[in-house]
Amino acid sequence: MVNEGEFFRTIADHVPAMIAVYNIKTGKYLFVNKSIKKLLGYEQKDFLEKGLAFVSQLVHQDDVAQITKKNLKALDMANSPKYAKIINESIVDFEYRMRHKKGHYVWLLTDGSVFSRDKSGQVECVMNVSIDITNRKEAEAKLGKMTANILESISDAVITTGLDYKIVSWNRAAEELYGYKVDEVVGKSAREIVKTRYEGGPLPWIKELENTGKWKGEAIQQRKDGTEVFVLASVSEVKDENGKLVGYVAANKDITDRKKLEERKDDFVALASHELKTPLTSLKIFAQVLEQRFKKLKDEIAMKQLASMNRQIDKLTELITGLLDVSRAQMGKIDYRKDQFAIDELIYETIENIGRVYKSHDIIITGKSGVQVMADWDRISQVLTNLTTNAIKYSPEGKQVELKVEKHKGEVVVSVKDHGIGISVADQRKIFDRFFQADHPYSKTLPGLGLGLYISKEIIDRHGGKIWVESIPSKGSTFYFSLPAA
Ligand code: ADP
Repeated sequence: MVNEGEFFRTIADHVPAMIAVYNIKTGKYLFVNKSIKKLLGYEQKDFLEKGLAFVSQLVHQDDVAQITKKNLKALDMANSPKYAKIINESIVDFEYRMRHKKGHYVWLLTDGSVFSRDKSGQVECVMNVSIDITNRKEAEAKLGKMTANILESISDAVITTGLDYKIVSWNRAAEELYGYKVDEVVGKSAREIVKTRYEGGPLPWIKELENTGKWKGEAIQQRKDGTEVFVLASVSEVKDENGKLVGYVAANKDITDRKKLEERKDDFVALASHELKTPLTSLKIFAQVLEQRFKKLKDEIAMKQLASMNRQIDKLTELITGLLDVSRAQMGKIDYRKDQFAIDELIYETIENIGRVYKSHDIIITGKSGVQVMADWDRISQVLTNLTTNAIKYSPEGKQVELKVEKHKGEVVVSVKDHGIGISVADQRKIFDRFFQADHPYSKTLPGLGLGLYISKEIIDRHGGKIWVESIPSKGSTFYFSLPAA
């Protein structure tokens, strides 16, 4: 039969962890198990004879401060009245390196608990249980290095920051894109280093980032040398393993070349549509002259053919005007001649004109706003015409288009409702984009360039109003626009 002490000692020696009990006042070890030989290469007697002073020297220099700080804090806590009774309970844990007898370092995870207290109740002896976590630490380091390597080889500029937007990391692509070396920027505010502006004015991107956890969009940013680059920025929150928000990461792609190409294409469209307009105008004039002539000659067949020629010329003119408007809108150059007038008058007059041309649908207007607006009559009429003709165009089976005019908090709100093919949720977000056309089998059979809504939005924006859509696929769509009262 073994006695109780012997019994526990045998068990302790077989645990694959290093167990050590020491007196914090005398610095002497009361007990160490055999595992220290396996973990650190020392004999039990080395620790028992040389005490805490010797063992402390084995701790890696870089880890000493962390351990001392944590230990003092834990002791303070354990000695405070609130915790005066705890014993055999873990009060602290830390990860650190200790030097093996052979010279290399071993990573340990140590858990410290109160083993005994003196007469006055103060902590006297502490028990440390330590396990070897070298493998885990090496794997983590490898993974960290691999992540760092990936970041370095990625072609987007990747920047991470803390919650205060101070730069934590800055990869090679960021160095190339912005011209700053990593050492120049770490610790500095990303918002000061990478000055950013947005086409069309400031954007509420920080709000979106904080509300949804991410933001993606185009921006113009300044390089170290003062030149500017177009980027497609994608910013997201970074969280730690407990899900706590710790900072942000931005991956920015240089899209300057694509933007330049787009600009060249826009210039070409502007030039081409301008050049096309002149011959078209003379064509129209000659067609009118010819019409007069054939009228006099009473040549019915020629007149019929001329009428259809005129209709084609009008269609062409409409398309080219659309293209010209787009290039003007792009450059912010649509001219507006604003006058004060009653919006109801414009609506009723425009709808009457549309009704005369489009006989396939009944257009029903309800409501009156009584609102006076300061606006460009022709342009607002153009918006209403676009929305109403779209409602007709995209509702081949619905025979009714309903317009409503209302006054709402110092604004007029106009809605155009159809019972047509509707617009999917994904498309609703893109519907006001330039050249956007829904991927709908019916839409595809119709002529159009996907410019009307883009221009309409531009016009309404420039009047300080809003334009939006609500729609249920296969049921119909309602387009709204609002204008502030004069
Ligand atoms: P276009 O009609 O010349 O293609 P628009 O800018 O006016 O250009 O419209 C863009 C796209 O939005 C259309 O191609 C169509 O797919 C969709 N759309 C517009 N209005 C409606 C509507 N009332 N119902 C369903 N789809 C619509």
